[in-house]
Amino acid sequence: MCLPFTDRATGLEAHKRRRGLWAQLSVTIVLVVLFTVALISLLSNVLIARRFEAYVLEQEKQEADNIVSNLSRQYDSLTQSWNTAYIHGLGMYALYDGYIIKVYDRDGACVWDAENHDMSLCMQIMDEISTRMEDRRPNAGGRFISKDYALSTSGDAIGAVSVSYYGPYFLNSADFHFLDTLNAVFISIGVFSLALSFIIGWFLARRISRPITKTVYIAKQIADGNYGIRFEGATRTREMDDLAASVNHLAGALSQQEDLRKRLTSDVAHELRTPLSILSSHLEAMIEGIWTPTVKRLESCREETGRLDKLVADLERLAKVESENLTLNKTPVDLLELLRTVSGHFALEAQKRNLALDVDGESTVVPADHDRICQVVTNLLSNAIKYTPENGHIRLTSKDTPDSGVIFVEDDGTGIPEEELPFIFERFYRADKSRSRKTGGAGIGLAIVRSIVKAHGGSVSAESQSEKGSCFSVVLPKRLRSS
Ligand code: ADP
Repeated sequence: MCLPFTDRATGLEAHKRRRGLWAQLSVTIVLVVLFTVALISLLSNVLIARRFEAYVLEQEKQEADNIVSNLSRQYDSLTQSWNTAYIHGLGMYALYDGYIIKVYDRDGACVWDAENHDMSLCMQIMDEISTRMEDRRPNAGGRFISKDYALSTSGDAIGAVSVSYYGPYFLNSADFHFLDTLNAVFISIGVFSLALSFIIGWFLARRISRPITKTVYIAKQIADGNYGIRFEGATRTREMDDLAASVNHLAGALSQQEDLRKRLTSDVAHELRTPLSILSSHLEAMIEGIWTPTVKRLESCREETGRLDKLVADLERLAKVESENLTLNKTPVDLLELLRTVSGHFALEAQKRNLALDVDGESTVVPADHDRICQVVTNLLSNAIKYTPENGHIRLTSKDTPDSGVIFVEDDGTGIPEEELPFIFERFYRADKSRSRKTGGAGIGLAIVRSIVKAHGGSVSAESQSEKGSCFSVVLPKRLRSS
């Protein structure tokens, strides 16, 4: 049905707006990679930052413990004095690491104070740390905090130390450098993966979309009636190769159908023209008084109408058999018995032409429409009789197999040329036109055979050699299938 013009215009617009397969595939691949890379980077970043902060917190605790244990060792219980020189070194060392310590003795008197010792250095270090942290971790809510630890030796309290540092944690410039390097590595990996995914996606999408575009083009050509076109070469994708093979098969089948249609038209025309022209010339001659209408002449006219009748009857039978509503009245049929019955109908004709007509084989019972299978054997046998010269041999055989019953119709007649064999089951196909016409065939008998056998879920095939004879085999399945 044609679309209204406006609908067609919007349809065209929508078609134009829709992105091609190639674009969709590459965009999807890039988006998927972009999303994956972003997700992985984000997760790794957050996880690493968290782990790193936990590690730094652990380090800080360790550092405080070290300071406390080192300081505890600097008290001489005998002389009850502190090793202030060592405490000074320790304090300065801690200061450069960001820890400002104050050491008190048991009585609370100051033993060593970093701020007293070098106030400006302390301020400078505190300032550096807080600026760095506020700059890089503005949401951490950090500030300088002090924690007091008791100092003792052999269980005796000897004093206390107050450790001030930027809490809850702080990172020095080396730590930030490490994190920055890590981030830079992540970004580089991300950019590299994106670029790579774009290139790979582009090639992949091209590889997939190219054969599809080609197939679409070929399908359009076929739709326009160019049945000679074929998909050449392989695609490296199994499904695409299957699609290409199917399209090629479709083109082949359509081209064959087209040939058959042309042949059918010309054959029907020819079949009709010959008897019609004979009839009209005879009748004209009789009407104009050139010929006296003798019985012999009138019989010749009837022969021609008979030929026309047969052709029409053949066409009708074929149409009926090929119609989709072909209903089969299936009953168990013994094929050997059926062969005997049909051969009985042809016994006289075979005798007249001096042909040996034998039936043998195994009894085999299949679910089939008796009358239609009779029709199949009749067509095959009448062909065998038609195409076997006098004194020839015809043999009908049945064979029983676990899944099917098989019929063979063999003759040692004219045979069929090898190149014609694939077509003999097509409508109106006559292997040797001049000889077939002489024998009165219109090329319909085998088409009827194929239709009936197909409706039974079976298969029919032919083997033949020119001038040596033919053998037709019909396989009918034993399992009942819907017809
Ligand atoms: P027709 O009515 O022309 O015999 P068929 O469809 O029965 O049509 O057969 C198609 C063609 O196959 C025939 O024209 C004939 O050339 C060939 N053919 C069929 N059966 C035989 C056979 N037993 N021996 C030789 N040729 C045969």
